[in-house]
Amino acid sequence: MSLTTAGIGYRKYQVKLTRTSDGASKVVDLEWGYPEWDGSDSDDAIRFMWEEGNYSCDCNRCEYFDEDCECSEGKYEAEVLL
Ligand SMILES: [Zn+2]
Repeated sequence: MSLTTAGIGYRKYQVKLTRTSDGASKVVDLEWGYPEWDGSDSDDAIRFMWEEGNYSCDCNRCEYFDEDCECSEGKYEAEVLL
């Protein structure tokens, strides 16, 4: 694979998601594009996305359980596995 697209690559990581209502959990395989535009550490960016960014919200986390839900907090817990 060549890296002609400005050195953009993808790294794999996992997130363990737990539905707090019944304790059901799963580990999902994900990818993250890098490098960061400002040269910052992609581990930090991934954690930020899950802890404070879009994926800190239940409406994005519930998709991994094939559910539709509204914006809320605390229905799903996420542990980032780097
Ligand atoms: Zn939301």
